[in-house]
Amino acid sequence: MQDVWDAAIAELRGKMPGSFDRWFSSVQFDGLTDGVLQLRAQNAFVRDFVSDHYLPTLKEKLRERTGLTIDVAWSIDGELATPVSARPSDPPRPEGRISVPPPATPMFPEPIPATNGHAPVATTHPGATVEGGAPVARPSPEGLNSKYIFANFVVGTSNELAHAAAMAAAGAGSVRRYNPLFICGGTGLGKTHLLHAVGHHLHQSRPGCRIVVVSAEAFTNEFIAAIAAKEMDAFRTRYRTQCDLLLMDDVHNLAGREQTQEEFFHTFNALHSADKQIVLTSDRYPHELERTTERLVSRFTWGLVADVQVPQLETRVAIVRKKAQLEQLDIDDEVAVLLAQAIRSNVRELEGALIRLAAQASILGRRIDLEFARGVLAAALPARAAPVTVEDVVRVVCHHFNLRSSDLLGKDRHRSVAQARHVAIYLCRQRLKCSYPELGRHFGHRDHTSVMHAVKKVEALKATDPDLRGHLDAIERKLGS
Ligand code: ADP
Ligand code: MG
Repeated sequence: MQDVWDAAIAELRGKMPGSFDRWFSSVQFDGLTDGVLQLRAQNAFVRDFVSDHYLPTLKEKLRERTGLTIDVAWSIDGELATPVSARPSDPPRPEGRISVPPPATPMFPEPIPATNGHAPVATTHPGATVEGGAPVARPSPEGLNSKYIFANFVVGTSNELAHAAAMAAAGAGSVRRYNPLFICGGTGLGKTHLLHAVGHHLHQSRPGCRIVVVSAEAFTNEFIAAIAAKEMDAFRTRYRTQCDLLLMDDVHNLAGREQTQEEFFHTFNALHSADKQIVLTSDRYPHELERTTERLVSRFTWGLVADVQVPQLETRVAIVRKKAQLEQLDIDDEVAVLLAQAIRSNVRELEGALIRLAAQASILGRRIDLEFARGVLAAALPARAAPVTVEDVVRVVCHHFNLRSSDLLGKDRHRSVAQARHVAIYLCRQRLKCSYPELGRHFGHRDHTSVMHAVKKVEALKATDPDLRGHLDAIERKLGS
């Protein structure tokens, strides 16, 4: 199947040159069997971009050659042995003021929740650095994410109690220490960050302190493995005897696991009676935990239950600024506000949007100005409740084809610009039911017959041109159906 793949790729490269090699230097071909194309991307951002921009055409090319409808299975791997394209020796730099690594370097790998072989493997390779020499997030030997420290945490009314209590659990601050500290709240609101910050702080102030950080999931897996291997003594020594601080993430995942709960109950008692600090996180309050024994739930409330709420706008803006500073991105204040206004309920998504913005600006050689940020956001956000407007369609189409709105609305008759313009006009007609004169006005005061021609042209081509269908599908997905 290698030759089929090679031929399809050669054709794709010829058809869609541009940044092909830049993207495909971060993608690896792992095989094509049973109608499933296996691809490996260096990170999720590359996967998403390639899926949106190249896969529709690539699948079509493969279908032409194999007669099969091809499905794609992606995997993510920080290090690719044989990328499709050689890495360009001189990667293009952004014209603007931001500086981010190329997509090859994962910027926000998932935190590593556990401490031993059961933990998922980090996608970063050890020792990786981003431009400017700052270390990429990676777990320190104790299994803590090095970015999750108190200094990187923005405090606002939504999280100040949890923050103060976490400081106290780490032996800092003036607040009383509670044991256990139970931090709860929705996803992406900083629970794991605070949990690891406790560990970092204690590690600094009491270097000999034995810190165990583990997710409930990993604790369960280790427990099962220990039983199977008849190594329960070692397991208990690790969690009960050789532990001065236990940080357990996502205890809601103990739900329904009776034996693990029983084991954890005894672990908890042993540590608590020896006055060892325990910090737990959960996506819900103790009394809301399902299929969790009463005695465990009651112990979770012995100390302090502190929740983290959705941060307010000011806090969200401060978080974006903080992240930009940490990643050495120079973004305008108005872009920070735009992001914070657009993404309200999840800090992880807020960060994701910032990184996506920075990475796309870098790859496309654009400055992060308000127009560019709006385009990326309109493309990234799920469909909004409000109906899509002509401006939304123009933004998303421009973003998809990497054009400026002034190009699309202007007089440029270059084939690629004209095609994007026709697509935008067609989509406005289809989705917004704009009249032809209205469309003419929106698109640079064109005559209504010329917009009608654009609509008819796209309608006709749709039936015969798979590339165009691919573009339309990708844009429609971004606009939300
Ligand atoms: P949770 O465990 O609640 O799902 P995380 O702790 O993993 O959320 O946080 C998600 C991301 O958001 C992390 O990268 C974290 O650093 C960031 N984050 C969340 N809250 C804050 C905050 N108040 N200040 C700075 N970063 C934050
Ligand atoms: Mg978490």
